[in-house]
Amino acid sequence: MADKKERICIIGGGPAGISAAMYLQKRGYRDYEIYERQNKVGGKCFSPEIEVNGEKRSYETGAIMGAKTYYAVHELEQFAGITHDGPEMRRMYRNSDGQEIFPFDPQKEFTVQKLAGLVRIKSQMKKLVRIMNTKYKGYDLYGHVGVAQGRYSGLSKEEHRALHRVSGVNQNLKDLALPFDEFCRKNGVEDVMKIWLAPYTSFGYGYFDEIPAAYVMKYLDTTTAIEFIAMRLWTWKNGTQSIYESVNQKLAHPAHLNTEVVKIERPADGKIYVTVREYRLDENGKETGMSVEHTEEFDKLIVTTPLDRFLKYADADETENELFSKIRHEKYVDFIAKFRENDGPTISGYIFDNMTPEKRGHAMVYYHRWKDLGDSCPCSVYALRNHKGDEDVPYDWTIRTMSDDMAICGFPVKERLYEQETYYCPHVTPDDYAAGWYDRLDAHQGTRGTYYAGEILSFGDMEDTCASSRDIVGRFF
Ligand SMILES: Cc1cc2nc3c(=O)[nH]c(=O)nc-3n(C[C@H](O)[C@H](O)[C@H](O)COP(=O)(O)OP(=O)(O)OC[C@H]3O[C@@H](n4cnc5c(N)ncnc54)[C@H](O)[C@@H]3O)c2cc1C
Repeated sequence: MADKKERICIIGGGPAGISAAMYLQKRGYRDYEIYERQNKVGGKCFSPEIEVNGEKRSYETGAIMGAKTYYAVHELEQFAGITHDGPEMRRMYRNSDGQEIFPFDPQKEFTVQKLAGLVRIKSQMKKLVRIMNTKYKGYDLYGHVGVAQGRYSGLSKEEHRALHRVSGVNQNLKDLALPFDEFCRKNGVEDVMKIWLAPYTSFGYGYFDEIPAAYVMKYLDTTTAIEFIAMRLWTWKNGTQSIYESVNQKLAHPAHLNTEVVKIERPADGKIYVTVREYRLDENGKETGMSVEHTEEFDKLIVTTPLDRFLKYADADETENELFSKIRHEKYVDFIAKFRENDGPTISGYIFDNMTPEKRGHAMVYYHRWKDLGDSCPCSVYALRNHKGDEDVPYDWTIRTMSDDMAICGFPVKERLYEQETYYCPHVTPDDYAAGWYDRLDAHQGTRGTYYAGEILSFGDMEDTCASSRDIVGRFF
């Protein structure tokens, strides 16, 4: 192991960067710096406070929830001395006409066909749980190393040995490179897509004909999926951002905010030169438009920010150029809305018909956070605007359409408080996955002192990004 005196640069103060620093610190490293472009840590965990009826509370524009399978996030909670103490998740279902529907309740809107459909889903769910634990043994690890070659190697997600390193051989794992719809058809479990659809597609992770099954099943492993179905979910009173703010406060070296990494040079002397641009703020904390740049010297670099964008400011080598230019991401749009007086939702809703590629740009889900605020609670509304092989629907059209969809559901938007499109769920295509993209990335870890972490390593959620940081620090530091 290294002498732990090395100077380490972490790019990005999102869940991956903050957790990488925590794991480094736990292993005895003290000489690290985190650079974060924004004026806060947490990245896509952004939980602004909004005042309603004279009281300020947290709302979510990014990550909302976890589950009991969030083992790495739980390590962060313990480090920070906080817990998942947020409001209970509640939901209902609607069709695109805004009518309430009961797709999974056999008693409501009873027909023989519906009952038969539900029986089929239940038996296919059982089959999926069985084959994932047998035929696809080793699927539920963080990360994708070896999968395309029929191996597994990484930290386990299984409860009794969570976050322990396991490895083995299983040729069937190669099937995980298939698009999820093909994977389901191949295994005769196509009806389970109806269950996986809401927590997958409506949460912005793409459509089942374009995303390798590996991503779907590593995020919604059968235990986590069951927790979603039963709504046994974790939330945080002060928002998911508070996890990373609390950890950051306990770090020996909290993140440098308003500081963007603009250049990386890794010459043959073995050092890494990182140029950062610090944005100057006025007395109200607003950027003045002025900035200063300086260059720092490091021994190692952990990149937790989008790797395809890393190519724009780093002295990328041939392998980095080739691998990172293959990365795709989703265009996930969301806003927080206030609704007309007494006309807002009182519970979260999934709009099932809108979760198809043809309906991209339409609202798929909305999140009602505070039950006691009833119809005056501002809600977050979400849509995807891209699908493989189709033209993206325009951003402005998406925002208008999402508002129209809420009105159709009976909730006319009065005001949008925040709106954004995020670089979401970076992934590679089924073909690139099958061709061993992840094994080539893994083989490149450590070249010129550089390590890659963040969403692409395993999956675009808090747990997988934090666990990937644990894995990288555990293996290489
Ligand atoms: C709408 C939405 C809903 C979500 N819901 C959930 C959920 O319910 N549960 C869940 O687990 N996850 C959810 N997620 C996903 C989760 O938020 C992300 O997977 C997680 O934040 C990824 O962490 P990261 O650190 O890899 O990247 P990010 O969170 O994107 O953080 C990267 C950071 O790097 C900074 N940065 C980028 N470039 C530079 C640079 N050159 N220099 C310095 N800093 C830079 C960025 O400002 C950012 O802060 C959701 C995300 C969104 C957007």
